[in-house]
Amino acid sequence: MTQSKICVTCGTHYPASVHYDLCPICADDRQYIPEGGQRWTTEAELLSRYSVRTHRLRENVYELEITPAFAIAQRAFLILSPQGNILWDCIPLLTEPMVEFIKAHGGLRAIAFSHPHYYSNMNDWAETFDCPIYIHRSDEQWIFNKGGRVELWKGEEKALWDDMRLVNVGGHFPGSSILHVPHLSPEGTVFCGDTLVIAPNKQHIAVMYSYPNRMPLPRYEVERIRKQMDGIPFDALYSFMRDLNLTGDVKGIFTRSMDRYLQ
Ligand SMILES: [Zn+2]
Ligand SMILES: [Zn+2]
Repeated sequence: MTQSKICVTCGTHYPASVHYDLCPICADDRQYIPEGGQRWTTEAELLSRYSVRTHRLRENVYELEITPAFAIAQRAFLILSPQGNILWDCIPLLTEPMVEFIKAHGGLRAIAFSHPHYYSNMNDWAETFDCPIYIHRSDEQWIFNKGGRVELWKGEEKALWDDMRLVNVGGHFPGSSILHVPHLSPEGTVFCGDTLVIAPNKQHIAVMYSYPNRMPLPRYEVERIRKQMDGIPFDALYSFMRDLNLTGDVKGIFTRSMDRYLQ
């Protein structure tokens, strides 16, 4: 177990030796300090109160989430791929059963991130599975607990194995990225964190500077994201939370959503 202090609002793990009055991730205007003020917890407390749920979403894709919900309540994805598995984003709790589950499925070749809100306890995951962590260089300033596993990448794309790739889309954060996996569906599957957020009605895809604070992106950013995503084939989209999955008319919904912003 690591001696970290953990922000209750976002789940980021910080070294216990470093003092912060406020969590720097939550003090940023894309997050928030709750009305009652900053609260911290420990890994021991999380382990005593929470577990990790795994759910098979489709062949070769599992979602992992903390139950009951904790902090941002994002899910991580374990994506099984012939030449090595990838973990897309992280959740702030790594349990023994979770380690066994992932090892039984072949371990991890890498961890890749959509953006800083999900860095959580990434070093623990990377050490456990002896793998690198891919983070876009534009978000380097938001890494507060940088272990030896982080590999910064730059530019618009990073090619991975099995024709998978990371694409820097920006918007929410300059380094906000997506993972494109061609072998999961005919046109390819996109894991987007909250770079793109599927609305509960499954008829809208949001792009925002801050989701919890409802802060929009400037029009030129929406135009740029639309153009960039137009060039990426996909027919399935998985956003940051449970149930935010889209597998029908995905391109149509994306285009109509961007049109709505730009009208
Ligand atoms: Zn926080
Ligand atoms: Zn976010």
